[in-house]
Amino acid sequence: MEDCIFCKIIAKQIPSKLEHEDDLCIAFHDINPRAKTHLLIIPKKHISTMKDVTAEDEATLGRMMMTASDLAKKHALENYKLMISTGKGAGQEVFHVHLHLMSAPQ
Ligand code: AMP
Ligand code: ZN
Repeated sequence: MEDCIFCKIIAKQIPSKLEHEDDLCIAFHDINPRAKTHLLIIPKKHISTMKDVTAEDEATLGRMMMTASDLAKKHALENYKLMISTGKGAGQEVFHVHLHLMSAPQ
């Protein structure tokens, strides 16, 4: 989608510190980390918010959660948080669904 910063990251039109890529999602480091390890896992398909997901996105959403679990293992995170801000009032700033993976004190 035009003018979506995360679609541009997927298209490699703007750089990111990539951690993972497959047919359904990618993961990269948050540019403004709020934890020692702070990754974002996003669908390759442009979906603005969790309010817009449909049944056809089930496999993608599952893959994002599996990717988060795999990356937490790869980074040896004993404790971590997974979060998807949904809607402006919840603090969503980028309107392309993203799953935050944030380490907590280990
Ligand atoms: P949210 O507030 O849940 O919408 O989170 C958006 C996140 O995207 C913030 O944590 C930002 O630091 C992060 N972010 C914005 N632009 C970039 C970028 N170009 N590369 C990596 N992370 C970004
Ligand atoms: Zn997008």
